[in-house]
Amino acid sequence: MFLAVVKAFAYGSDDVVVAKYLEKLGVDYFAVAYIEEGVALRKAGVKTPILVLHPQPINFRKAIEFNLEPTLYSERVLKAFIATAAEMKQKKFPVHIKFNTGLNRLGFQNKASKRIAFGLSKENTIKVKSIFSHLAASEDSEERAFTLRQIGRFSEICEAFESGYGKLPLRHLCNTSGVVNYPGATFDMVRCGIGLYGYDNRIGGCGDLLPVLSLKSVISQIHKLKKGDSVGYNRAYVADAKKTIATLPLGHADGIGRQYGNGVGCVSIQNQKAPIVGNVCMDMIMIDVSDIDCQEGDHVVVFDPVTTAEHFAESGKTISYELLTALSRRIKRRLVE
Ligand SMILES: *Cc1c(COP(=O)(O)O)cnc(C)c1O
Repeated sequence: MFLAVVKAFAYGSDDVVVAKYLEKLGVDYFAVAYIEEGVALRKAGVKTPILVLHPQPINFRKAIEFNLEPTLYSERVLKAFIATAAEMKQKKFPVHIKFNTGLNRLGFQNKASKRIAFGLSKENTIKVKSIFSHLAASEDSEERAFTLRQIGRFSEICEAFESGYGKLPLRHLCNTSGVVNYPGATFDMVRCGIGLYGYDNRIGGCGDLLPVLSLKSVISQIHKLKKGDSVGYNRAYVADAKKTIATLPLGHADGIGRQYGNGVGCVSIQNQKAPIVGNVCMDMIMIDVSDIDCQEGDHVVVFDPVTTAEHFAESGKTISYELLTALSRRIKRRLVE
């Protein structure tokens, strides 16, 4: 089974558009991080089951109202959810039980699996649709031994759970890099987020996936500088010769963080690289186009399937996940089929 993770506005791509498209393709499950994200999908007409990875007890009533299936990861949230389900007269409301196998972020401890399973088998308000865990370093070749231990622990948890619960719910462990690097550990379902857009963190280089996202902009204005002229706030860039500088309508409020600029990060115009110069402003960046034959109104590529988001993120010492999810909602999204 395939679960599509569409949290954080579908990794910055537009959760409703992406979820509706994937629903047509027939994905089995969606996951979001928070209940409100699931509510937005339901209000847009998404019918596929939705797992909520990190639900907050204050929104549990809403989860039930909108048929959003919570992850229960501790005694505290388990009790709170059962109480809400009982209040709302639920029978066998689907839930997912998360175990900690080494990430130490969310999840019951593995030692508790049989006891928890036995307790849950007596519970009428909820039913366990799946049990799962999350890998800590599935993209890291140095941590292979650790990841294999996590996989082993999860297998043991599944066995213990089955013996306590009386039957085996769905089991899932792998995110995108888990699927790519540990194809033997896919259990009954996989949870892919970043891979939906073609980024796969494969160990040892280039994978089979094709990056699909592009971020495009335009040149708003071009300035001709003399030697000694400066660009932008705090005069961070000073021309050491005659230069041509173009201004783009994208800034740190759009997710192009302040780690870029001053030579960090390049965009491209007609496949030629133009470095970002000076400090990134809130709504604009300036680029050096001295060697590029371009005009105001010309198209600019920040990343695309060739110069990928992974590349651009790496130049800013971050990862595609952060870059993509930080892109502001004022950047227009367009689905190209
Ligand atoms: C975000 C998340 C995923 C998806 O991870 P990708 O690396 O984007 O595929 C899967 N499982 C959990 C628990 C997550 O939080």
